[in-house]
Amino acid sequence: MSLAICIKCGARKTSAGALCDVCGFRGVDIEDLARSMFLTDHYQQPRELKAASRQIQAGKFTFDDQKIAPIVKELQQEPALVERLRRSRPFTLPLLIRVLLIALLITWLILKLWRALSER
Ligand SMILES: [Zn+2]
Repeated sequence: MSLAICIKCGARKTSAGALCDVCGFRGVDIEDLARSMFLTDHYQQPRELKAASRQIQAGKFTFDDQKIAPIVKELQQEPALVERLRRSRPFTLPLLIRVLLIALLITWLILKLWRALSER
């Protein structure tokens, strides 16, 4: 699990592309994605992330464009990575839906079987 900081409110999240639990922000623009990437443990020390988080919460944080520009360039060269960041979602919901669908299917099969048996 990696550590990332929401670029809007400074809350902790698990990855650059994750939806922020606190303010609901998720980067879509390539610049926002690059800023989000910049505030992860991939680019920063945990101590620096904590400091950035505090500064964002205090409304005092400014991004250094000279540090963001190379990440923007990197992202522009990797459209697949950008897509992955944009689409990344907590995987608990689709899993829950899958489990529910399987449960429904099993219930339907049991009902069908039960009907077929009771009709005789
Ligand atoms: Zn946030």
